[in-house]
Amino acid sequence: MEPIIQIENLHKYFGKLHVLRGINLEVARGEVVVVIGPSGSGKSTLIRCINRLEDFQEGRIVVDGIELSHDVRNIEAIRREVGMVFQQFNLFPHMKVLDNVTLAPIKVRKWPREKAVEVAMQLLERVGIADQAEKYPAQLSGGQQQRVAIARALAMQPKIMLFDEPTSALDPEMVGEVLDVMRELAKSGMTMIVVTHEMGFAREVADRVIFMDQGQIVEEGKPDTLFANPQHERTRAFLARVL
Ligand code: ADP
Ligand code: MG
Repeated sequence: MEPIIQIENLHKYFGKLHVLRGINLEVARGEVVVVIGPSGSGKSTLIRCINRLEDFQEGRIVVDGIELSHDVRNIEAIRREVGMVFQQFNLFPHMKVLDNVTLAPIKVRKWPREKAVEVAMQLLERVGIADQAEKYPAQLSGGQQQRVAIARALAMQPKIMLFDEPTSALDPEMVGEVLDVMRELAKSGMTMIVVTHEMGFAREVADRVIFMDQGQIVEEGKPDTLFANPQHERTRAFLARVL
């Protein structure tokens, strides 16, 4: 079957800084890929390229048959297919939880409010915070806010979900509740790319782990294989620090 994400020879520069240096990656439908690597290795930049939050200078990205080009119609189409969750939850602080989740479906998908509310409440139920729907983000814990952010992304019915260190800004006792939601999402068959330092999650949920360093994919494999038997010195050195 055709991969849902195809990345070929991707190069990205910030000015003179060569941040992605020839990335090749294919992700299958329903696959969960965890990306690990040191700070500054290009993990965020890579996943931001996939929904065109960043442009790139060389190479190709095709998402579900849509070529990422400069054509804004393609960019809009991609944004509808790809949900993203950030380290900082990025909720709209002046809007209630429910309105955070219904905003994009109403504005972008042109859903009537009733339908958007119905779907939003189902999603808030799914992430375990339907009872917080009428609150404002600041009234919620970090873990609850991140679960709202996941519900908000899911409200657009994406085919792919990208997570950029979704638990890194959380107090330790709230990490588990967010990982639980992500685990459930993975089980439901969602295609996911997750940048995380949570190696337990990677081991348990990832179909494949990718180790990046200095803008390149150094090594990839099934989590058990990669963690137990890394082939490259850079991977070994990184894992020795985080495992
Ligand atoms: P990671 O997520 O692995 O920590 P990033 O993708 O954030 O790495 O960053 C990769 C490199 O690109 C780093 O050297 C970083 O400083 C640089 N970088 C990231 N974003 C920008 C930007 N907007 N402008 C200039 N340099 C950037
Ligand atoms: Mg990053």
